[in-house]
Amino acid sequence: MAIVTLTNVTKVFGGRRNRVVAVDSVTLSVADGELVVLLGPSGCGKTTTLRLVAGLERLSSGTIEIDGRIVNEVAPRERDVAMVFQDYALYPHLTVQANLAFGLKMRRTPKPEIQRRVAEVVGFLGIEDLLDRKPHALSGGQQQRVAFGRAVVRRPGLCLFDEPLANLDARLRVQMRVELKRMQRELGMTALYVTHDQNEAMALGDRLVVMRDGAVQQIGRPLEVFERPANRFVAGFLGAPPMNFLEGRLAGANGRVAFECGGGRIAVPDALQALVSRCLGGPIVLGIRPERVSIVGGPSLGNGDARSDKDDAAIAVRVSTTESLGDHVNVYSRTRCGQEVVAKVAVSNAASSAVIDGGEAWAMFDVEGIALFEVGPSGANMGAGACGVEG
Ligand code: ADP
Ligand code: MG
Repeated sequence: MAIVTLTNVTKVFGGRRNRVVAVDSVTLSVADGELVVLLGPSGCGKTTTLRLVAGLERLSSGTIEIDGRIVNEVAPRERDVAMVFQDYALYPHLTVQANLAFGLKMRRTPKPEIQRRVAEVVGFLGIEDLLDRKPHALSGGQQQRVAFGRAVVRRPGLCLFDEPLANLDARLRVQMRVELKRMQRELGMTALYVTHDQNEAMALGDRLVVMRDGAVQQIGRPLEVFERPANRFVAGFLGAPPMNFLEGRLAGANGRVAFECGGGRIAVPDALQALVSRCLGGPIVLGIRPERVSIVGGPSLGNGDARSDKDDAAIAVRVSTTESLGDHVNVYSRTRCGQEVVAKVAVSNAASSAVIDGGEAWAMFDVEGIALFEVGPSGANMGAGACGVEG
């Protein structure tokens, strides 16, 4: 059990000529018993952040508190923190049993207590049959189970996980993340978990911290971040296939604001009307998730069709390719001005709307699912209040 607080935590590597800001003024707090996931692409500073919390790196500036105590100068072993790595890092010459007992032994825990705690963890992880084996005789999944066990057996207040499932195959990864969450909950551990895998992050996290170039982009509950991304980077990082982005302009039509691009017009949802009315005429990026796009019609649907421009909810596209993935179909298409639109549709819908490669169709937008982003590198979500091109 532990509460962790990072305040303006910064880590700079290198000197004047090869300076890298690996962690850039990160502020976040993890509540007691909470599982917070640091999510972001490779190189965004996730591992460095964990190593700072563990005490394996020195901060350049900022403070880290564990249970209200500033630990900037506290040695790793005095922080009551355990860390699980991607490569397991088990002692190769020790049996599973000895690997599990090692940390407790080093802390001179009484033998009966060691036995009791190891037995508890072993039961929890279902590894009774593996106790006499050495790591080389274990599969990747089994090794990672033992690594979890070794981290939690001494009941640390805080457990840090650095992409612990990355070396496992897809199926095992899903199974292990369920086990990990159960273990974290039942033991009441506070956990900081690092991954670049958005599914893993969504599935595991009580909250997500999305990072880019060392800096926090957004902190929130998984669905909050998925549904109300702070900016275009976050919107594009979560979801598969990622959110569609269309460049266009805001135009007035019948007293309302609409999005226009290459011959198509899409209504702007009511909730955004007031926010964007002062940005009329300006460039804008429309975002919509593939789940909110459907594909209808074919060449026979002309401009007079009820589903076309009149409803301001569809754009004419040409289907470029489709991927049938069993439970759904990804339909890749292009607008007349060459912007890509991906729709994620049910198999039955794809069949009934006769989607064919090279065919003409309408990409229908569920207008309530539309987000509008600023043009420019940070691309703030205008639903969060901003307007126009970055200054
Ligand atoms: P992630 O875990 O998100 O992939 P890291 O925290 O490992 O990212 O790295 C963040 C940035 O810091 C990268 O640009 C990386 O090259 C750099 N970096 C990490 N460790 C060191 C180091 N010891 N010396 C110099 N640069 C480093
Ligand atoms: Mg890393």
